[in-house]
Amino acid sequence: MDPVKRNVLLNPGPSTTTDTVKYAQVVPDICPREKEFAGLMKGLREDLVKIVHGDLEKYTSVLFCGSGTINIDICINSLLAEGKKVLVINNGAYSSRAVEICQFYGLPHIDLKFPVDQRPDLAVVEQTLKDNPDIGLVHTTHNETGTGILNPIREIGALVHKYNAIFTVDTTSTYAMRPINIEEDNIDFCMASAQKGLMSFTGLSFVVGNRSIIEKSKDFPKRSYYCNLYLQYECFEKTGEMHFTPPVQTIYATIQALKEYWAEGEEAKWARHTRVFNAINAGLDELGFKQVIKPEERAGLVSSAIYPDDPNWSFEKVHDYCYERGFTIYPGKISTTNTFRLCSLGAIDEADIKDFFVVFKEALVSTGVQVPVQYKG
Ligand SMILES: *Cc1c(COP(=O)(O)O)cnc(C)c1O
Repeated sequence: MDPVKRNVLLNPGPSTTTDTVKYAQVVPDICPREKEFAGLMKGLREDLVKIVHGDLEKYTSVLFCGSGTINIDICINSLLAEGKKVLVINNGAYSSRAVEICQFYGLPHIDLKFPVDQRPDLAVVEQTLKDNPDIGLVHTTHNETGTGILNPIREIGALVHKYNAIFTVDTTSTYAMRPINIEEDNIDFCMASAQKGLMSFTGLSFVVGNRSIIEKSKDFPKRSYYCNLYLQYECFEKTGEMHFTPPVQTIYATIQALKEYWAEGEEAKWARHTRVFNAINAGLDELGFKQVIKPEERAGLVSSAIYPDDPNWSFEKVHDYCYERGFTIYPGKISTTNTFRLCSLGAIDEADIKDFFVVFKEALVSTGVQVPVQYKG
């Protein structure tokens, strides 16, 4: 096995993978309708539930072929009963995506907006639930990847259940990194895709959630032919297969990634991501960068730095300098402030971040940006 050129991806997914995961895609050709392949998916589905400590009787996982957004689409269009309304608790770009999905399907919904740099106000959330007894589904994002803010899902989930609604949480940028306990966190459905916390590849996404709610959703309106949670679940239960062609090679890679996940261990893996995150913040602090999210409200995986007030600052130039040297940095995703992001996902460690900051500082100096960076006022 020749080593593959290693890039350190500091973008919010896909993340840096190990060579063993990369090479796990190289397998003899197989028709995914063979029993051998269905057997692989069974183990994979169970592992995905175990990662969030779900009881296999009560919770299940359903796989889809697509990028992470497919999960948001599926949960929202499949889990809303007739005559009910969606409530999106929205403090960022990914919850806004859920609002757009409601708009595209023409679903009655409330877009409960909060500032992107603040946690949702739980009193307002509760009042909204109280005032709108027809809310059947509440959706929010665990770690708003656009900024890196951590939302209080356990507390929100308790309110959602008090008012008898279903709680779907976009955990795409925390799953298999920041520990989640689906039951204790009051989550009915969470979701992710293989290229983020699992450190595998794009093309495989999955929803982990409450089996009895999925079964009940059999009678909810079917709003999509390809993206319906119950129909895909039913197919898995009956045949062990996806309804349509699965992403075969990504599934092989993800099974290898899961082996590596269990070998590293939940606690050690989270400790590693935290080390990387702390090293990123220390590096940004040393260079004088300000961040958008208060330290105590960060999810520990995304650092969102504000552009300095320097006429020579050019994200493009800094990006290109780093990219040519094997480090990928990423623009921000908030409309009010110009930011860039450095993320702690993937098969990387503290030493990679030390190496990165050597290159990043060179990039600033060589493009004429004053270091430490300056802000007006
Ligand atoms: C990455 C991500 C997604 C999925 O984005 P895709 O580009 O469709 O893979 C969804 N939600 C969150 C919070 C994410 O970080």
